[in-house]
Amino acid sequence: MQDRKFLLFIMDGVGDRPIPELNNKTPLEAAKTPTMDKLAELGITGHMHTIGRGITPGSDTAHLALFGYNPYEVYTGRGPFEAAGTDLPVKPGDIAFRTNMATIKDGVVIDRRAGRISQGTREIEEALQNITIEDVETIFKVGIDHRAALVLRGPGLTSDVTGNDPKIENKKPKHIIGTSSEAEKTARILNQYIKQASEIMEPLEINQKRINNDKLPANYLLVRGAGKSPHLESFSTKYGLTAECVAGGGLYKGVASICGMKINDNHYGTGGIPTDISSKVKAAIESLERVQFVFLHVKGTDNMGHDNKPIQKMEFIDEIDIAIEPFFDLLPETLICITGDHSTPCVMRDHSSDPLPILIVGEGVRPDHVNEFGERSTMRGGLGHIIGQDIIPTMLGLAGRVHKFGA
Ligand code: ZN
Ligand code: ZN
Repeated sequence: MQDRKFLLFIMDGVGDRPIPELNNKTPLEAAKTPTMDKLAELGITGHMHTIGRGITPGSDTAHLALFGYNPYEVYTGRGPFEAAGTDLPVKPGDIAFRTNMATIKDGVVIDRRAGRISQGTREIEEALQNITIEDVETIFKVGIDHRAALVLRGPGLTSDVTGNDPKIENKKPKHIIGTSSEAEKTARILNQYIKQASEIMEPLEINQKRINNDKLPANYLLVRGAGKSPHLESFSTKYGLTAECVAGGGLYKGVASICGMKINDNHYGTGGIPTDISSKVKAAIESLERVQFVFLHVKGTDNMGHDNKPIQKMEFIDEIDIAIEPFFDLLPETLICITGDHSTPCVMRDHSSDPLPILIVGEGVRPDHVNEFGERSTMRGGLGHIIGQDIIPTMLGLAGRVHKFGA
């Protein structure tokens, strides 16, 4: 029993609502998914609210729940997870922020993503090293595209500060303020840092080149999602399982790494579209040879929901289904769970509280009568209704790895 393996496969934002263009099917229902349908037939299915009914999860709180943590107890803001995902060594007490490189002109934010800058951002990272303000050290690290993370390290800091992101273009950045009496220092340092960083970024070579090529310069930082690095019981202590993560997006790697999972970056996944799903599946299978639990994540489904592109969302699911065919080779020894972290209905262009389909397949499950993996088909499944925190205990139970409660 001890050598059973566990694979948790998450399609970000996969859940959706019926779409007229798709004959009132959801993108998942309309997609060609022979692999997922067969796995549903061999396995047990159900529907899941990741955190709870009527709760719209963010990707970070959703993943904490999927890994079995109570997000209401452990969540301290998105910043630390994003920072950890850019390989920034976040220490307890650090204050971390999600950061966008943006374009500012005459004091107005004209593009919150600096023309979706994707090349040459290392120059910005290097230019912003070793800035100390008062007694506070700052650490800045770029992620994918316009995304970056900022960490403040020093005495007397708190996460009770607002961000400066105006959330829409052609507005002035907000002045950062403290929301508690102890937060005055943190707000002061942050406002000072953003001003100083902008002065350093403006004349950089990358920005001069971008201006010459009619592109928007990355000359300003928008920070939000302040969070103090949380103290979590590690995943392996909690469950007695060694664990690795295969993901492209920084946030997902960050949540996994703060939970103590190792990150396997030996793949060509991008954390968006286009991506190389097959290389991620291959990496996950390699990870399963080393460790007992593997978390595999794809992001594109969520992006297509936010962009209201139901056809592309469906086509991306077609691609996923082909890429995960090798899952069959892992059966029945490996227990495989397939689900999402939340719904991202195209019509809402954002996350929703709609439940998600879930399936678990592998030795020990009692197959139900569901043979199609979709939002509605799985409502008749044998798992019934579950929440995200139930998943890992359910899998451990199926593998005979839980202790008896009572005599
Ligand atoms: Zn998500
Ligand atoms: Zn999303």
